[in-house]
Amino acid sequence: MLKIGATGWIEKEKPRPGPLDAIVAPLALAPCTSDIHTVYAGALGDRHNLILGHEAVGRVVEVGSEVRDFKPGDRVVVPAITPEWRTQDIQQGIPHQHSESLLSGWKFSNTKDGVFAEFFHVNDADMNLAALPDRITLEQACMMPDMMTTGFHGAELADVQFGAVVAVIGIGPVGLMAVAASALRGAGRIFAVGSRPKCVELALGYGATDIINYKNGDIVRQVVDLNRGKGVDHVIVAGGPENVLSQAVSLARPGGSIGNINYFGEGAMLEIPRLDWGCGMAHKSIRGGLCPGGRGRMERMIALVAHGRVDPGKLITHKFQGLEGVEAGLALMKDKPAEVIKPLALI
Ligand code: NAD
Ligand code: ZN
Repeated sequence: MLKIGATGWIEKEKPRPGPLDAIVAPLALAPCTSDIHTVYAGALGDRHNLILGHEAVGRVVEVGSEVRDFKPGDRVVVPAITPEWRTQDIQQGIPHQHSESLLSGWKFSNTKDGVFAEFFHVNDADMNLAALPDRITLEQACMMPDMMTTGFHGAELADVQFGAVVAVIGIGPVGLMAVAASALRGAGRIFAVGSRPKCVELALGYGATDIINYKNGDIVRQVVDLNRGKGVDHVIVAGGPENVLSQAVSLARPGGSIGNINYFGEGAMLEIPRLDWGCGMAHKSIRGGLCPGGRGRMERMIALVAHGRVDPGKLITHKFQGLEGVEAGLALMKDKPAEVIKPLALI
């Protein structure tokens, strides 16, 4: 990111590790919707000559003197969120994503250079990196740092229960992983709200039982009609404009829960529909969160893939070679033709 609205290539000094850190060279990189928000919408404010990217799998090239579990040559999954784990905030129960201040766990392409580079720096390597087993492909692994952990977090935030009825609003890559996570948590029925044929096909493959096209009218009406006139137990919000949150409140039954992982980029306020909120008395909960990061989380994502529970590699619709491929992938994410779910650059 050269400045808001402009990308290009720049030369920077190779980063150096502190005692607890690692330097990693990428093996696979994935551009993200968030990179587009950062550059073209200025979502994080003005940034100059900031290296973009937070979705990477790589090979360790150098480690600090205190790093115990990783050495040069190791293949690693690098989470998008890399907190400082030795903080008072975490010990006080503040989620690790915010361990020093709001969203502070999100460092790559936010408060420091990101991963779209020949080498990048990872803080607290022993706590943030996860070893990548041979049997997992780079395609699968590169969906773990953000897409998989975020979509799965949607199901956690909504607290999806065994046998429950779930609606997932937005079935881009994050929403598709929320569908897969809901199925893994034992949801009985999963309404996937989306329109693009490729996303619909994958949603059905990941466990959706019903497809709702938001272009065919009010999604609340469509879902409630199919659900015996009732709201759903859990709603996961993973795409769409500001009004999807109010749709989610209307969609949830009394006592239902809403997990939001969507990024809302416009306006000062989000609306809650008063009557569907039971005038404040409907016991509907809303929880929103940033994707979990760190080593333990990535090891869990690895376990799910290694044992065949889910294949996030299917999200990749376009593959490119080399760092130049990042540029091509980013351009695809910006224009978002209907057949694009997730591009990948193999380095
Ligand atoms: P995406 O743009 O690929 O997917 C969003 C999907 O929602 C698209 O397919 C779009 O067509 C669809 N959509 C648009 N309007 C809709 C509507 N009214 N109803 C239903 N669907 C609608 O993005 P993504 O990469 O899947 O990410 C989804 C969201 O999650 C984005 O807002 C992204 O910024 C955010 N995100 C959050 C985190 C986090 O940590 N919480 C991490 C990654 C991404
Ligand atoms: Zn991302």
